[in-house]
This record gives sequence, structure tokens and C-alpha cells, in this order.
Amino acid sequence: MLVSAKEMLEKAKEGQYAVGQFNINNLEWTKAVLKAAQECNSPVILGVSEGAGKYMTGFKTVAAMVKAMLEEMKITVPVALHLDHGTYEGCYKCIEAGFSSIMFDGSHYSIEENVEKTRELVKICNEKGLSLEAEVGSIGGEEDGVVGMGECADPNECKAIADLGVSMLAAGIGNIHGKYPANWPGLRFDVLDAIQQKTGKMPLVLHGGTGIPADMIKKAISLGVAKINVNTECQLVFAEATRKYIEAGKDLEGKGFDPRKLLAPGTDAIVEIVKEKMELFGSVGKA
Ligand SMILES: [Zn+2]
Repeated sequence: MLVSAKEMLEKAKEGQYAVGQFNINNLEWTKAVLKAAQECNSPVILGVSEGAGKYMTGFKTVAAMVKAMLEEMKITVPVALHLDHGTYEGCYKCIEAGFSSIMFDGSHYSIEENVEKTRELVKICNEKGLSLEAEVGSIGGEEDGVVGMGECADPNECKAIADLGVSMLAAGIGNIHGKYPANWPGLRFDVLDAIQQKTGKMPLVLHGGTGIPADMIKKAISLGVAKINVNTECQLVFAEATRKYIEAGKDLEGKGFDPRKLLAPGTDAIVEIVKEKMELFGSVGKA
């Protein structure tokens, strides 16, 4: 059964570790992330962007597939199915489709409008038992064609949104989506510290987890980050393993063209990277 992310993140914040959000794109991705979580006895959040939801033919398909997989794979660790960077309309669609968690990305609205829309969604999520992630200050890089510049969030605005009763809060602290440029100056721990001081027990979310050095990840967790989003890294290892398989000519040997064989190395690579991340985030054995 899917669960809200609220309890797992409160436990993570309390215990000074983070739960990974791994974005899914298809059946193989989902199977790989669930397998890793079960083998690590770790809670996990499956992230679905609006683009990925569309790719999988719609949020209802995603919710039905994930729920069935939990049963068929006998998954016993806590799993949340979460809309990543949702629009206002997308949030309602996912609530209806049976997601257990949503993110409303109102960072491109004025703070007043972000507060208004978030307030409304808090009410609905509370009624339905879903967790809600809000965002303050846009996070840089490219996500579904939208490019932000990676500003830092204003700690007072973070407090205003946190006080609405959201379950977790994403705040820009110099992090960006996708690959980090060579001249990236690193995370702004001074800003993170100021945000945590204003928002107290609120679990904080670090987006753009791909390529942030391990020591920065650990420091961020010590300053209140309880959820870390990983997307690009799974894509990179999947592509690399698949390319190796093709370049070695394995698809031309026997039944090597069988999709179950062709997609296996990439799927296994996702299992491995997810396990590595769970180890780094400290969530192994915390289910
Ligand atoms: Zn993000």
C-alpha cells in the first residue's frame, strides 16, 4: 500500500538521515527502484514529473502500475508515489489518480499567489491524507524544458510557506537540476542553515541530487535536509549500461535482441546506483 511521505520524512529529520526520491519513467525504472528499496530495507519515494506521467500515458496508469507492483513484488518498505514539480492542475489530477504525495511547484508565482494556492492544496491533502511538498525560490537547471537560474530562497518566505502546514519544503540553496557545471560554486550552507532556523522541524528537500559531492550531501542532511531527489544519475547509468551492451554486439548474439535481455543491464545499473544513494543518505535499514 502506498503511504504519504510525511511520517517517513519526519522520522528521517529526527534521525538525521534522508529519504531518496528517485524519478521513474517506465516499468523497468519502477521495478529497479522498488527492488533496491526492499533489499536495503529503506523507505523510498517514487517521483513522477508531469512529462514522465504523460510519457506513461497518464497518472492513472502510473498509480495502477505502482500499486500492483507493490503487491506482486511483495514490497513491505514504506513507498510514497509523489508528483514532482506539479502544476496546480497537475496536483489535482494526481490526487484523483491515487498518488500518495504531491509537490506543488509555485515558485514561479509571486509569493502571495504561491501562498494562496499552497494553502488550498494543504487543506485538500490533509483531508485525503496525502503529503504535500512546496517550493520556494526556483531551482536552477532544466526540468521538462523549463530553465531556472538557481537563486537562493528567502528564509522568511520559506517560513511563510512552512507555516501553512505543508509536509516538506524544497528551497533553492544553489542546487540545480541535471549535471552540475565544472565551475559550480557548491551549496549555500549559510542559506540552508538560516532556512532551518526559521522552519524548525520541517523536513527540507534537496533537488538536483545528481553530482553533489558526498561530503556536501552529508552536511546538508546535518542541516535539516530529509529528502533528496535523484533523477539524472539513474538516466546516466541506464544509458551507459545499455550502450555497453549494444556496443559489445550482445543484441546480435542469440536472442540478445529480446527486450527483457536488452533492458536488463540498464535496469540492474539503476538498482545499484539507488542502493549506493540509500547508503549515502543513511536510509538503509530505516524502513
Ligand atoms: Zn526538482
